[in-house]
Amino acid sequence: MSKKTIPHRKDVPQKDKWDLSSIFNNDDEWENALKQLDSLTNEVLSFKGKLSENKDTFLNALKALEKANLKMECVYHYASLQHEADEDDTKAAEREGRAIMAYTTMQAQLSFFEPEIQALDETILREWISQPDFMDYRIYIEKLLYLKPYILSEKEERILSLQSQASQTAETAFSVLTNVDMNKTFGSISIQGVENQLTETTWGVFMHNKDRKVREEAYKKFYAKFEEHQNVIAALYAGSVNQDVFITRARGYKTSLEHALYSNKVPVTVYHNLIDCIHKNLDILHDYYALRKKVLKLDELKHYDVYVPLVHSIDSHTTYEQAVEICRNALSPLGKDYTDRLCDGLLNGWADRYENIGKRSGAFSSGCYIGNPYILLNYNEDNIRDVFTMAHEGGHSMHSWYSVHNNPFMSYDYTIFEAEVASTFNEELVFEYLLKNASSDDMKKYLLAMRADDILATLFRQTMFAEFELKTHEAVENGNPLTPEFLRKIYRELLELYFGPEMHFETNSDMEGLRIPHFYSAFYVYKYATGISAALALAKRVTNGGEKEKNDYFEFLKSGGSRYPIESLKIAGVDMEKVEPVQAACDTFRTIVKQLKNLL
Ligand SMILES: [Zn+2]
Repeated sequence: MSKKTIPHRKDVPQKDKWDLSSIFNNDDEWENALKQLDSLTNEVLSFKGKLSENKDTFLNALKALEKANLKMECVYHYASLQHEADEDDTKAAEREGRAIMAYTTMQAQLSFFEPEIQALDETILREWISQPDFMDYRIYIEKLLYLKPYILSEKEERILSLQSQASQTAETAFSVLTNVDMNKTFGSISIQGVENQLTETTWGVFMHNKDRKVREEAYKKFYAKFEEHQNVIAALYAGSVNQDVFITRARGYKTSLEHALYSNKVPVTVYHNLIDCIHKNLDILHDYYALRKKVLKLDELKHYDVYVPLVHSIDSHTTYEQAVEICRNALSPLGKDYTDRLCDGLLNGWADRYENIGKRSGAFSSGCYIGNPYILLNYNEDNIRDVFTMAHEGGHSMHSWYSVHNNPFMSYDYTIFEAEVASTFNEELVFEYLLKNASSDDMKKYLLAMRADDILATLFRQTMFAEFELKTHEAVENGNPLTPEFLRKIYRELLELYFGPEMHFETNSDMEGLRIPHFYSAFYVYKYATGISAALALAKRVTNGGEKEKNDYFEFLKSGGSRYPIESLKIAGVDMEKVEPVQAACDTFRTIVKQLKNLL
């Protein structure tokens, strides 16, 4: 295989880059918009203390706020996309810096707005927003009113906001400790005489290495270092949980879990159902690990054997244009309007296609209210996985497209709870399509093994994390301190429960529980597990269904921020308050493992 040279941004042909002119035609237009932000903010500030005066003043204030926020969104979006595409471009970096500064300033100046709405007489406010003039703002205000029972007095809110910066200390310290201080000390791993640095970033690469000795050495060095710092890390994590419990109690929620789920109106039963249902299906996960042990021909399955691919990459070559056509065919159950719009976008300016020097790695979709829902890719023609990535990011972008075109600015954005549904839905359709059309058994094996690993990582693993977070918060709420010994003990119990009898852990395998950055944003990761459950259920519903099932799914895509997530998913045809979607996802995993077993 010939080694391609990676071009500088300036040498990338226009057709391979995204076309940001749907936001601003050029940097001068951006400069002008940035300059307008001050006067737009001042316009909103002129309403400070006057929101309760009368209906018209209130409406004008909302319009001013909408205008300022919309302009700010465009300014930030344009600058950040340019920066992501070329981090070596100092002018783009500077523009992004200025956009962030403008955003922070505006946020601080307009922070009076929402508390002032929440302090208005509710009967009068509800009377006002029931009128047609307020249609574009009704949902935004109703969501503020929903939070009202847990809003404290002005003085108390001020105290809470004064400590908000200090409340980030645990998370910041953990990040600096692991990414900076510790990162220099993990050492290196020798592969065929070449020393390779072990870091937080390269750790994953070592875990995918075919050579078991490499994996073992990397694993042991990595966790030994974490063990050296276990007291500090445990103290930081305890600090983070204590902070969650403090805010929970200060605001009057019953539990940290209830607090975390309240703003999205997600009942705590959703969280508990997820964990219960996964527990009932752990047998298939254990089966999968038994299969892994067999395929890898191991005497004992170790924790460093769980990431290496069961089937190593196969030779495949898919051009960008061919990948777009795969998406077009695979997503055809969604109809021609959907696929035409997406494929047209992918071919004409939505996507930034290939790697260039200075471009950030990975992929993302980023939409705002004005302009196209852009997609950053680092598309590699020799990796079939990138077709999935295209479909995934395309799913996000189309979700954004439908949200933008069916909702007012103040309530167009959907929640994180819903965010991974449309993307994972598309991935599933691409998987089904490629599997059906696979030209060889090798290709089938490769696709099934990859899919099994993906579902495992999103459904089972994130649920294990979610369970750990629940246990740590419950411990503190019950008055038990989070010591290193306690944290390691409960994490080890979870490892043993989830990985099953085939797995042989090291004495320090439980250090994994102390190295996950996501744990510093508590009760976040469960959304990955519920997201994939909803997506798999809906993909099945749409592909097996007819016009109604398809339309229901589009109602969800169009829903944007107009509903709470459980409600919008119910409209699509999946009830996340029930265990069925999670059970269905487990069943899908079961089928894949069975197929894989037969083929391997
Ligand atoms: Zn995604």
